Amino acid sequence: MTFSYSADRDVADAIVIGAGLSGLAAARKLRKAGKQVIVLEARDRVGGKVYDKKLSNGNIIELGAAYIGPTQDRIKNLMGELQISAYPHYDTGKNVYYNGDRRALYNDGEIPLAETTLTQLGASTEKLEAMANSSMHRNHGNIPTHMDTTR
Ligand SMILES: Cc1cc2nc3c(=O)[nH]c(=O)nc-3n(C[C@H](O)[C@H](O)[C@H](O)COP(=O)(O)OP(=O)(O)OC[C@H]3O[C@@H](n4cnc5c(N)ncnc54)[C@H](O)[C@@H]3O)c2cc1C
Repeated sequence: MTFSYSADRDVADAIVIGAGLSGLAAARKLRKAGKQVIVLEARDRVGGKVYDKKLSNGNIIELGAAYIGPTQDRIKNLMGELQISAYPHYDTGKNVYYNGDRRALYNDGEIPLAETTLTQLGASTEKLEAMANSSMHRNHGNIPTHMDTTR
């Protein structure tokens, strides 16, 4: 991991571990309060679970957080401060499913897949959830089931 740090003082007021939204928001608040802050991030990028990728055709695909909605006022305010724009996303109507050249419309909960594929999908989802649960309990013990990124 590369590490570069320059500051007038060799002692920081606070060290924030993790440059995800929570860490960056905390560091920003501390900086606003005039504190000297170091943010330590284990990965080679900031953002944590907010993560996008550029596809070969130039389009951007979101691999992590993408949406805000009612009650997420603080992130909305932060977007305003940072002049980050948003655009509306459909919340009603039918869903669209693409498979190769096939385009199908469907209602929530009625994914247009063959019965065998749906069965496999269900089994895979259950397996992944069991793996996630056992991994969470192994690594963190009693973790909260909801992390609020809006405050
Ligand atoms: C696929 C997906 C879609 C999502 N969609 C939405 C959405 O649409 N709307 C929404 O509001 N939320 C969404 N979320 C949830 C949201 O992304 C997270 O709640 C939020 O980004 C968490 O931020 P965080 O800073 O708390 O944690 P993280 O983003 O996990 O950041 C933690 C950071 O700490 C670093 N770190 C961990 N341990 C150490 C260590 N020991 N030393 C140094 N660094 C360390 C990690 O590398 C990471 O960068 C989504 C999440 C996922 C995975």
